[in-house]
Amino acid sequence: MQADWILAHATLITMDAASIVFPDGALAVGGEQLLAVGTSAEILRDYTSEHVLDCSGRVLLPGLVNAHTHVPMTLLRGLADDLRLDVWLLGYMMPVEREFVSPDFCRLGTLLACAEMIRGGVTCFADMYYFEEAVARATVEAGMRAVCSQTVLKFPSPDAASYEDSLAMARDFIAGWRNHPLITPSVAPHAPYTTTPEILRACAQLAVEFDVPLHTHLAETALEVDDCRAANDMPVIPWVKKQSLLEAKLLAAHCVHIDEGEIHTLKRANAGVAHNPSSNLKLASGFAPVTQMLAEGLPVGVGTDGAASNNDLDMFEEMRLASFIAKATTGNPTALPASQTLAMATRLGAQALHLGDITGSLEPGKRADLILVDLRDVHSSPAFARDPAAVISRLVYSARSSDVTDVMVNGRWLMRERRLLTIDVQPLLQAAADYAHRIDSFLVAREGSLFSRLVAIGGAEQEESYEVQIKVHLDDPAPILDALPQSGLEILRRAHYREYDTYFSFSDLSQGRLRHREDEFVDEQGQVFSVRYRLTLTGPAAERRFPNSALLSRSRFIAPATHSLRFYREYFKPEKEAEVSKDRQRWMVRFQEEEFFINIDRVLKPDIQGAFLEIKSRTWSRLDAEEKALKLSALLEALGVHDPRPVEQDYAEMADG
Ligand SMILES: [Zn+2]
Repeated sequence: MQADWILAHATLITMDAASIVFPDGALAVGGEQLLAVGTSAEILRDYTSEHVLDCSGRVLLPGLVNAHTHVPMTLLRGLADDLRLDVWLLGYMMPVEREFVSPDFCRLGTLLACAEMIRGGVTCFADMYYFEEAVARATVEAGMRAVCSQTVLKFPSPDAASYEDSLAMARDFIAGWRNHPLITPSVAPHAPYTTTPEILRACAQLAVEFDVPLHTHLAETALEVDDCRAANDMPVIPWVKKQSLLEAKLLAAHCVHIDEGEIHTLKRANAGVAHNPSSNLKLASGFAPVTQMLAEGLPVGVGTDGAASNNDLDMFEEMRLASFIAKATTGNPTALPASQTLAMATRLGAQALHLGDITGSLEPGKRADLILVDLRDVHSSPAFARDPAAVISRLVYSARSSDVTDVMVNGRWLMRERRLLTIDVQPLLQAAADYAHRIDSFLVAREGSLFSRLVAIGGAEQEESYEVQIKVHLDDPAPILDALPQSGLEILRRAHYREYDTYFSFSDLSQGRLRHREDEFVDEQGQVFSVRYRLTLTGPAAERRFPNSALLSRSRFIAPATHSLRFYREYFKPEKEAEVSKDRQRWMVRFQEEEFFINIDRVLKPDIQGAFLEIKSRTWSRLDAEEKALKLSALLEALGVHDPRPVEQDYAEMADG
């Protein structure tokens, strides 16, 4: 019979369920497909071809499947490292992505990723990013196979102003790429914590409607699971099941923090899991229960995750790490042996991507996705022949991605003798350097201003205001408390809280200072009934002092603090921190047609005797502020404070000592 290619005299590893190793193996390729796999004698007897490749000394195996990545992120490699997931993602990746990610960015990043992956023996990958149309086109240009998943988020993303827009994009993308020989389109609700139940359900519906995979991040960190339990009274997998996610052909990346019941649930739903050893180690996410998942029969593939959290797309490294981590975490050196690890990187990975019927092993009828590896270099020599399967342990434990010499996808050569045939790397590297330069400039400008760093994490709206204020120390606040009801002012509102403030200050004082405030609202009985977190950027020191000693200051940006104090600390990296806590009674009053806040503060930390009377008012115009300063003086008189000796230090400075 006629074949387009015959690859003969290789050490051939089928990686099908039987996982046969032919010490002198061969296969025949016709068009996109594998026609036959067997011994060289059989194949050369049954097939003829104009192209017979002698693979002596090489190992022939199915191409590796990178089960989870974000290919365009090759352009963000090394941008920000050694950070916690939330600071890394919300503080750096997402702001830079909002500014730079475009179809051009995605095409370039994808081609670079494909070049790296082809050189490392990867023939198929599962991607999740923005402008997935551009990712898919570039992947086809490179000749690789991929599941391309269009991201859907609850906040505006680089390619969509709203989640409805990105869902519509995903629908168009899936409809346009269905039945493509290389690309399987898919939808990717990014993660439960970056989406909503409504988004998850809509994505599941879309994936079911078109019968395509749904790709998402699940249970990556312990924090995600804790938050899910706190909010929904159940861990992540049952919760996303409630949102219909398991009705789709699910590809779940990470699954680091899942229990036995959740593993069963995933198995019953025929879900696939992508295990990402480097990413989990680098972001200290934890150790996925890989051996339990495999024992339950879950298809678990291996993924590199994006180049910004790894920082490479080297599946040989991932295989080795997957195996070593499993051994170390179970205390069992027989856990995750080489053969099972290689299965994860090939057949099981393809199954996890729901592509198990077309790729992942060398079997007649499957697509010709294969690689040749040369194991004759010093680091993988010598070879023992007593056990034919020993070659698998050499592949997993000592081979390097640079040992891959030839790569074929869908019957087409993408690399021969280490030379890439579909990608010219040099101009791509130049374009990547240009992006790096522009991103550097963007970040340098942003790091230069506290305000723009606050805006970058969605933490502030531009809001400029003026504040007049005076603060007086009181040995005893009782006379003021008595004077309040009879001072001719109208009390509009009253509140009682305990405030816990953390001030961040920076060497450049002109930047101002950040205050993270936790307000605990206290009822009549002294019980806390509600808590509010706010972040305030205050401008530098007072800009004008009035004769009556009131101070006028400018520029305050207030936003609800949606992240933890720890997040802000790691994101802003303050030079100095000061903690202040106080018991505050607050009155909002009207006096001479102006509104003022009157605070009586007892400072608990630092420990300061007596109390402070603070009177403040904010306004949008400077003129108003000057007028208010005069009335503030009259208000002081009305409260019986005749000769105010204002305290100029603020509480943070007192805490500083
Ligand atoms: Zn990821």
